[in-house]
Amino acid sequence: MGKVGFGVAVGCAVVTCAIAAVLLGRRVQSRRKWRRAVEMLQEFEEGCATSIGRLRQVVDAMAVEMHAGLASDGGSKLRMLLTFVDNLPDGNEKGTYYALDLGGTNFRVLRVQLGGRGSMILSHQVKHHPIPQELMSGTSEDLFDFIARTLKQFVEQEDDGSEQKVDEKKELGFTFSFPVRQMSVSSGILVKWTKGFSVEDAVGKDVARCLEEAMTKAGLNMQVAALVDDIVGTLALCHYYDKDTVAAVVIGTGTNACYVERTDAIIKCQGLLTSSGGTVVNMEWGNFWSSHLPRTSYDIALDDESPNSNDQGFEKMISGMYLGDIARRVLYRMAQEADIFGDDAYNLSIQFIFRTPLMAAMHEDESPDLREVRRILTENLLLPHVSLKVRRLIVRVCDIVTRRAARLAAAGIVGILKKIGRDGSGGVASGRTKGTPRRTVVAIEGGLYAHYSMFREYLNEAVVEILGEEVAQNVVLRVSEDGSGIGAALLAAAYSSN
Ligand code: ADP
Ligand code: MG
Repeated sequence: MGKVGFGVAVGCAVVTCAIAAVLLGRRVQSRRKWRRAVEMLQEFEEGCATSIGRLRQVVDAMAVEMHAGLASDGGSKLRMLLTFVDNLPDGNEKGTYYALDLGGTNFRVLRVQLGGRGSMILSHQVKHHPIPQELMSGTSEDLFDFIARTLKQFVEQEDDGSEQKVDEKKELGFTFSFPVRQMSVSSGILVKWTKGFSVEDAVGKDVARCLEEAMTKAGLNMQVAALVDDIVGTLALCHYYDKDTVAAVVIGTGTNACYVERTDAIIKCQGLLTSSGGTVVNMEWGNFWSSHLPRTSYDIALDDESPNSNDQGFEKMISGMYLGDIARRVLYRMAQEADIFGDDAYNLSIQFIFRTPLMAAMHEDESPDLREVRRILTENLLLPHVSLKVRRLIVRVCDIVTRRAARLAAAGIVGILKKIGRDGSGGVASGRTKGTPRRTVVAIEGGLYAHYSMFREYLNEAVVEILGEEVAQNVVLRVSEDGSGIGAALLAAAYSSN
């Protein structure tokens, strides 16, 4: 070999060594980053742990807070609002009733015909109407006049004149999904507008009376028999079909619960008398808080950056509005600290880009190569080259977030059962009457529970785990329809003065 040949050989060896060193360095670095990602996953999982012991603490905390909220106004983060609904529809209602559902940029009008015992709901008609933008920030009179006129048109169109006399007063259930201070089952003062409305002169007024005045002006012979929150409508609807229903829970974009409480347990309203001895309490449980809730740094950041920081703490851990965003925060931090997405992770910095239905679709991807996860990463998050290993990690994150949410919601439900003595733990009003367990139905409504099957399974499983199989046999979790329409009409029937 000549000098030149030797030089070339040495040069080649040096280059090869250098390449090998770089590759090795990269592999070491990538292993180190992956180890960091796995470590972060473990930390997150530990932070979200919901052992049975922890869940029992949440159950107890819920029951304690319910007591406190019933003892005095402001006694708890749970507002425990009286709805004045003490008779729930039971299937004996008969006749034609109307409902008006105002809760956002649309409103719905409904007409329901009830056949009385045995024949149940004979028919129902619904019509949706958008609210003109200018009315959302105009005067109270203009808004309610518009609604009353639309309602009148609907009544005239749907009325075939057969079963209701023209001049007979019609009864309406009014679902008004804004904060209201209820004064009776059919009256309540608007505390403030939300969801883009700002009809300022309506604040402080009884919205049922505003609507009735407008109906009279429109020449409509109709009165508000019940003014209700949509969660109460859901309870009414489920109770109509099943008299063992004692509570309703909504888990959709947000979350709330209501249940039937004994009037003598409502200390803040002593002397409240009802014919049934019970009354429906709207818990506003989205605002529940307890130091036993497993809270992570991601939850704290989400709360800090939200427009309602320090509010709705339970809701921010369990409802559809937030689950996707908790997962997004975990993945984004993994991208920053463990580089799991290379340089592509910008989109993950955008709040709420990772919606809960997308998260559910990834979580429920059963293909061996996680094809659906890859599709969503590529199309929705613009992350086209994510390895199978990282896709598996993403699914784990979704699982942790959803499992915690579902198990905490389950603990909340058992907390209600405990408060009313239906958790089988004995006590004053135990789930047993002379040794016979009582059947207890909880209505559950909302997109998260209805459409996210992993969430539903985790929740159902946790209720059995907390209650024990024997007691759980008597507790039925029933998927229910949104009662803001039909449920409100049923309440109008139950409270009809006819
Ligand atoms: P709302 O709570 O606004 O009255 P819904 O009860 O229909 O409406 O719930 C809608 C919410 O449920 C969505 O915001 C979303 O978070 C959640 N959701 C709907 N569909 C799914 C799904 N397939 N998987 C997971 N979450 C879902
Ligand atoms: Mg809803």
